Amino acid sequence: MPRPVIEPFRIKVVEPIKLTTAAARRELLASASYNLFALRAEDVIIDLLTDSGTGAMSAEQWAAVMRGDESYAGAKSYFRLQEVVRELSGMEFVFPTHQGRAAERILCAVVPLAGKLVLSNGLFDTTRANLEVAGATGVDLPRPGALTAHEPFGGDIDLARLDQHLAEHEGRVAFVVMTVTNNTMGGQAVSMANLRAVSERCRRARVPLVLDACRFAENAYRIQRDEPEGRADTLAATARAMFELADVFTMSAKKDAIVNMGGLLGVRDPALAERIKVNLILTEGFPTYGGLAGRDLEAMAQGLQEVLDPAYLEYRYAVARYLAKRMEDDGLVVVQPAAAHAVYIDAGAALPHLSPAELPGQTLACALYLAGGVRSCEIGDFMFGPGEGRRQLVRLAIPRRVYTQSHIDYVGAIAEDVARVRHRLPAMRVVSAPEHLRHFSATLEPTAPFPAFDD
Ligand SMILES: *Cc1c(COP(=O)(O)O)cnc(C)c1O
Repeated sequence: MPRPVIEPFRIKVVEPIKLTTAAARRELLASASYNLFALRAEDVIIDLLTDSGTGAMSAEQWAAVMRGDESYAGAKSYFRLQEVVRELSGMEFVFPTHQGRAAERILCAVVPLAGKLVLSNGLFDTTRANLEVAGATGVDLPRPGALTAHEPFGGDIDLARLDQHLAEHEGRVAFVVMTVTNNTMGGQAVSMANLRAVSERCRRARVPLVLDACRFAENAYRIQRDEPEGRADTLAATARAMFELADVFTMSAKKDAIVNMGGLLGVRDPALAERIKVNLILTEGFPTYGGLAGRDLEAMAQGLQEVLDPAYLEYRYAVARYLAKRMEDDGLVVVQPAAAHAVYIDAGAALPHLSPAELPGQTLACALYLAGGVRSCEIGDFMFGPGEGRRQLVRLAIPRRVYTQSHIDYVGAIAEDVARVRHRLPAMRVVSAPEHLRHFSATLEPTAPFPAFDD
């Protein structure tokens, strides 16, 4: 027997989980109008809604919190963060922000975007919203069959289409965004070869390259493991090599910095840094705190170092791979290879009796909650509205360092219960929805009752 990959940490503080019955969950879900965002978190047993800001901080991070320097300007905590981020990324100018989208908003405010294009391997929804509000059009150029090809680096950009767009729209492309890992494409990793090729093309076309770097460590780990020509001697050096290829990075620290709130913006160009500073002071705070407390900067600096521990990343990928395999054993189809931060179930394949308009992803997400109090997130036609040929996915995101192996086994068992009755699961109908970002607050109903689940 191969030895199991263990959690490379032990537990010092615990948070009780309230257990609910299937009967109670039936009531709770109806009261939430079948929208999982409307549930109270305490009514969820295993919360896999997102990996954003849901991680567990380490003893060293909590110790760092106590060392936070809360001076308004020039706090020691800022200089610690600056040093760590400069070492990690090689970027000279480092700005904290309250979260990732604030870094995006500031970047979009200081770069002229009206009438421009932004090309990407896959824009995250807040990135797209920020640049479209600023008058640009975001264009995703994922590699063909990104979600179905089962290639090791499904997060890559399609280089042929990138070339074509750069040539066709010369002078109109404001920048290229490479999202690592590629969240909108099943969280798949981006290869170093692809990043290098993009960087070279950007330099030739004089178009800046922006790294949306919130899962930089998970991406670097995959390069280290699966791309011999791409890796450096250490994981940190591989991560650094990814950043070296870019001119700017934005980062939600709620992912791989393993903090509950925070973001970063890093740039090399002094003139751009000046413009960012002005906007940051106007909207977030003085540049040495950027909308965060000194203790937050400390925890972020510490987290950015801890996340590059190969034992931690090996464990993190092992959890996702295990859960993905378990789902497949249960008869479900998942996006492969599994991302580090989530397992994506293909709800369209699981519920072939439902058309995309009948929202099979939302049905499956509701069934996982009814069966075992597992909260996931639909990523399909409910989230985005009707779209041509989109895959109907349910994402089970894995918070960092939060759940144990038995919690993951429990999720596997619940998925098995759901898989057993999948042909009897009802369609969902949207009852009311706001115009924008409807998945957060829409109300829904099933078109027939859900089957009963046992406790
Ligand atoms: C979470 C996320 C963001 C936005 O960050 P927030 O901290 O939620 O504002 C941007 N890009 C990607 C890829 C993300 O996953």
